[in-house]
Amino acid sequence: MGGLKEKEYRSIIDNIQDGYFEIDLAGTYIYVNTAFCDLYGYTKEEIVGVNYRELTNEENARKAFRAFNQIYQTGVTGKLIDYEAVRKDGSWRQVEISASLIMDDSGKPIGFRGTSRDVTERRQMEERLRRSEERYRAIIENIEDACFEVDLKGRFTFVNDALCSNLGYTREELIGMDQRKYSEDDTVRELFLLFNKVYRTGEPVKAYSFELSRKDGTRGFCEISVSLIRNKQGEPIGFRGIARDITERKKHEEQIRYLATHDVLTGLPNRIMFREVLQQNIDFAYRYRQQFAVLFADLDGFKIVNDTFGHEAGDMVLIECAVRLRSALRASDFIARLGGDEFVILVKNVTSIENLTTLVNKVLATIREPLTIKGKEHALSASIGVSIYPQDGQDKQSLTKAADLAMYAAKEKGNNNFQFFSMGIKAQFRERTMFEESLPQAMERNELFLEYQPKLDLKTGAITGVEALLRWYNPSLGLVTPMRLIPAAESSGLIVPIGRWVLRTACEKNMAWQRQGLPRIGMAVNLSHRQLMDERLIDDIKEALAESGMDPGLLELEITENLLLSYFPRIINVLNQLKELGVRLALDDFGSGYSSLAQIRHLPVDTLKIDRSIVGNIPVNKIDMAVAEAIVGIGKSLDMTIVAEGVETPEQLACLQDPFCDEVQGFYFSKPVSPEHAAELISKRKFETLK
Ligand code: C2E
Ligand code: MG
Ligand code: MG
Repeated sequence: MGGLKEKEYRSIIDNIQDGYFEIDLAGTYIYVNTAFCDLYGYTKEEIVGVNYRELTNEENARKAFRAFNQIYQTGVTGKLIDYEAVRKDGSWRQVEISASLIMDDSGKPIGFRGTSRDVTERRQMEERLRRSEERYRAIIENIEDACFEVDLKGRFTFVNDALCSNLGYTREELIGMDQRKYSEDDTVRELFLLFNKVYRTGEPVKAYSFELSRKDGTRGFCEISVSLIRNKQGEPIGFRGIARDITERKKHEEQIRYLATHDVLTGLPNRIMFREVLQQNIDFAYRYRQQFAVLFADLDGFKIVNDTFGHEAGDMVLIECAVRLRSALRASDFIARLGGDEFVILVKNVTSIENLTTLVNKVLATIREPLTIKGKEHALSASIGVSIYPQDGQDKQSLTKAADLAMYAAKEKGNNNFQFFSMGIKAQFRERTMFEESLPQAMERNELFLEYQPKLDLKTGAITGVEALLRWYNPSLGLVTPMRLIPAAESSGLIVPIGRWVLRTACEKNMAWQRQGLPRIGMAVNLSHRQLMDERLIDDIKEALAESGMDPGLLELEITENLLLSYFPRIINVLNQLKELGVRLALDDFGSGYSSLAQIRHLPVDTLKIDRSIVGNIPVNKIDMAVAEAIVGIGKSLDMTIVAEGVETPEQLACLQDPFCDEVQGFYFSKPVSPEHAAELISKRKFETLK
């Protein structure tokens, strides 16, 4: 006991935190300190002199005996016997006992001394920790998300099962593995930057998605959240993260994107994708100083196909068109369906207008190829408008607008046509918009009126009829010619009510002249495409005839040759219905279009009007001479009346004399004139110039 006296030594012992005890070899307490008494809930008096067996239960007593016995046998200090001390009040404390032998001066063991430490709290804490760790482990191993920890070099230091199965490696393979193994170069860089950011800022990153490659070479997508791991000193030592496999979701998203950017019917990209690709083309062309073209193709008369054969047939036609366009174009050309019967084509790197024109013609030709609908062959056609970057527009909107306007201009030329955008077209459409705005009031304000141009019999010089021609006088626009007015009326749909008005006015005028005692003459009225397709046309004509009381045989309806190009069977059907009313039909501007002479054989037409452009060129132009002769020849053989329009000179007239035409019309005899003036001409009956 060194220099310490027994008493001092006891007083130190009495003040230590741990319980201290001494027992003899029989197990009787010889000495205990205060802490020991507190631990067991007895007083010193209650303990000293009592055998430890009496103060505990049987199991503990056996445990203690074994431990003391071992110490006795071996002489080795017995460390840490776990022991549940039963206190006087019956409660329990978790204690840790360590004990050693007490020897007498001769070295003979006479008892044991030891400490008894209350570890109840510590054990509880350890237990809590163990449980939470177990819980955490169970979660990590059972969740579907992949969990990992990497060191600062990006090598795995911890991975869970989900990560292993996602990447296709075993845990052993993964631990220590470098990132480079499970991602492509680009991704490695991306991840490096990501981890670096977490490192620099100390802020976690959430739901960052990237592409990974698995052991088997397949690729997938995952979304990771990463935070920093710090040691006790707060220094970063690695990263901890959760990665969620989002491959399925990505696939799903891609599928949704596909559906959102493609047309279900034809499988072609749709308007949304077109806008994206157009922007890419603009950026590219700008960067490399290239030109590219936007082609707007709209099928002619598609509505009629739909109406006549049903939507299924219409769908089939659209699919067929998509297939044809795809095969007619290069793989680098982009094709989209904008909706309805509208297709758009982007032609990259346009170097010459000639080449582009060739391509446009190729597109027209491929659409024009015969197509079988419900067992019958039909010829479709399209109208194409073309705009070119950069001259026709530098942005998406102006380029599309330009191509759209050009397409409308192409439609107006007649079907199966194309048109390049020009400033002229723009001006024309600006004017058109202006007209469309003022036209609705034109009828109410009586700004529309008709002029009449006589047609005469070439043999007798007698007026056989007049053609009613529409005029519009607007105080601010001045006199608007039909060439400018009709397209605006067509596109706005106003042509239908206007046409109705023309019909009624012309028939009434004809009857008024008759009532004035003038000779019965024919009345020719022009019909446009839209009117011809209007369901109420037949009724309108019936009404005009009934209200005026005019003989249907005096009414001649003129349709232009170009109208034949659009859906032929439907047109024939309308023409036949018109014929049933007893009116006459004339094919106007004949020879200007593309319809073949053979085609007119199938038409219920009474009159052919040779186009002004041909008449204007005779007799100088030999080809036009020949065309005129051919038209007359076939017309005559079909028993049709042949009218030459636009006769301006005596030379032209001379050429049209017998055996040529039946009738002539032109400035040489009279311009279109007011009804009063026309009445005067009719009353004279004959034109002197013809004699
Ligand atoms: P169109 O039916 O071929 O009418 C003949 C056109 O040729 C008229 O032009 C007439 O003024 C013009 N013309 C007649 N003789 C000569 C000539 O010797 N020399 C020249 N240079 N021209 C001559 P306009 O009145 O400007 O009408 C143009 C076109 O507008 C018409 O061509 C017709 O297709 C259409 N149109 C006129 N009125 C109506 C209408 O009420 N309804 C519809 N749908 N179209 C109409
Ligand atoms: Mg006409
Ligand atoms: Mg004409």
